Amino acid sequence: PEIFKKTFDTPAYKGSVEFNTGLYINGKWVDGSEGGFIDVINPSNGKVITRVSEGTEKDIDDAVAAAHTAFETVWGHNTPGYTRGALLYKLASLMEQYEDELAALESLDNGKTFGWAKKADLALSIGTFKYYAGWADKIQGSTIETSIDKIAYTTHEPIGVVGQIIPWNFPLMMLSWKLGPALAAGNCVILKPSEFTPLTALFTAKLAHEAGFPPGVVNVVNGYGARVGNAIAIHPNIEKVAFTGSTLVGRKILEASARTNLKDTTLELGGKSPNIIFDDCDIEQALDWTIHGIFWNHGQACCAGSRIFVHAKIYDEFLAKFTERTKQVKLGDPFDPTVYQGPQVSQQQFDRIMEYIDSGRQEGATVHLGGERFGKEGYYIKPTIFTDVKKDMKIVQEEIFGPVGVVIKFEDDDDVVRQANDTIYGLASAIFTKNIDRALRTSQRLRAGTTWINCANQLHPQIPFGGYKQSGIGRELGEYALEHYTTVKAVHINLGHTI
Ligand code: NAD
Repeated sequence: PEIFKKTFDTPAYKGSVEFNTGLYINGKWVDGSEGGFIDVINPSNGKVITRVSEGTEKDIDDAVAAAHTAFETVWGHNTPGYTRGALLYKLASLMEQYEDELAALESLDNGKTFGWAKKADLALSIGTFKYYAGWADKIQGSTIETSIDKIAYTTHEPIGVVGQIIPWNFPLMMLSWKLGPALAAGNCVILKPSEFTPLTALFTAKLAHEAGFPPGVVNVVNGYGARVGNAIAIHPNIEKVAFTGSTLVGRKILEASARTNLKDTTLELGGKSPNIIFDDCDIEQALDWTIHGIFWNHGQACCAGSRIFVHAKIYDEFLAKFTERTKQVKLGDPFDPTVYQGPQVSQQQFDRIMEYIDSGRQEGATVHLGGERFGKEGYYIKPTIFTDVKKDMKIVQEEIFGPVGVVIKFEDDDDVVRQANDTIYGLASAIFTKNIDRALRTSQRLRAGTTWINCANQLHPQIPFGGYKQSGIGRELGEYALEHYTTVKAVHINLGHTI
């Protein structure tokens, strides 16, 4: 396998990184079984950064075999929880030590700014590993009172070998949300990063190796979704699959599970989240969070507040101020500390977003701001605001996954709840009001897995995250995620003599 070396000399970070770009299987770096490679592109300029080994079905078979052996010999029941916890904590500490390197790689590979990568992606990923390190020796069942003749108890056992497939928008954060609870609970993992952003997963595999996870416990296999992702989804010896990505592919994962060995399946999928601005909000506060809600990570957040509902009484004032604020969003080099918005992740995403912008125009919406490319190279799109939209337009119903928000006027509480719930998605929602009754009542009526009150896009290792409706199945983070990485055994002990 090849080694990637790069020296960064940027305003935000000076230093270097070095790591293996092969597949990490059974504690070793190997090439793909067919010798293929995948080019990794820098979205700021479209140039190739490096190439990584391309995995195949055979590589997934090898990783699954290694994971099974590890599960039966050195992991799961064979390792005390406190040892698993110590390893997870060691990994978190190593990530802390290499925080700048990881943030620089994330920025280079994904296009997000170095500053946000460090402040959000790194902080939350490290926090997630620390949080689950603490859980590793606190996962336990219960005793159940039945009768004098019986003792019954439950144990929460690891599921076994788990496949994990993650997207490109938060490569490291999605990795930590997956590996953290799976390893804490005692499972062995085969993780497939997105083919667009494999670099931080490979660097983390190097750190996991250094931390001392036994061979076969953590395996990282790069590859394309239709091949390596599918091989995970249909594998007869993988007992659970955890997927984050589009609703389209999520459906395929669930179908694959149904067709094969009925793997336990959790899905974190798309969103079209409402951001509701009531007339009694603090407008400046609402503006700050609305900008963050839709433009953070260049709109490439599953929970982005992409439908901005504004009460009729303050619509004109809010729209004028929102427009002014949006004009101040600075685009450019992700390593420039004054830049807020970098490029979209890939040419494909750039094209997809531009197609949505065109469809909005064609369906009669008004491009109030932006709506075009920024600069001459790289996949930059100006922050875009649509007005005069109708509820059936594609830009109102479908996930654009870019810096594109639609602003919609509403008349009263019933009206906004009805409109907010009117999509196939139900991932997140945000409410801005200074009236606590209104905030909580509205939250109860919204069909979404998260409500943010007077904030947006807030994530925390202790707080569960996941979707209603077609935004997914299951929850990540918090204690809730552990339920999806353990299975319950009930034990009945007979103390009597008769049947
Ligand atoms: P995607 O569905 O195209 O790909 C996600 C992953 O699935 C990638 O690793 C890809 O290689 C793999 N994949 C693709 N086809 C596959 C197949 N047939 N079988 C198995 N695996 C396959 O999504 P993306 O474009 O990488 O990410 C964007 C999507 O992710 C958005 O819809 C976004 O909302 C969603 N997302 C959701 C959450 C959440 O927590 N709900 C978080 C982040 C991103």
